[in-house]
Amino acid sequence: MTVVRRVGPGGAHAGDDDAMDPPPTCPNCPDRLLWKDTRETGPGKEDSWFWFCTGCHQAYVPTPDQKLRFTYAA
Ligand SMILES: [Zn+2]
Repeated sequence: MTVVRRVGPGGAHAGDDDAMDPPPTCPNCPDRLLWKDTRETGPGKEDSWFWFCTGCHQAYVPTPDQKLRFTYAA
């Protein structure tokens, strides 16, 4: 009896949902990505977050374009 082994796609991850834009880098630390800090956000003010750099511990206000792209990103 011959056993046919199927080799091919099947275990591959289809559809990763990390379609989020990469965050910007810090103006002071070009190697550091900024973190989206949502500590100040809450119901009704979802867009009041800011960027935070773990390198220089500075907070940065996102640009209007960044707010649009990142506020409702999962
Ligand atoms: Zn920094």
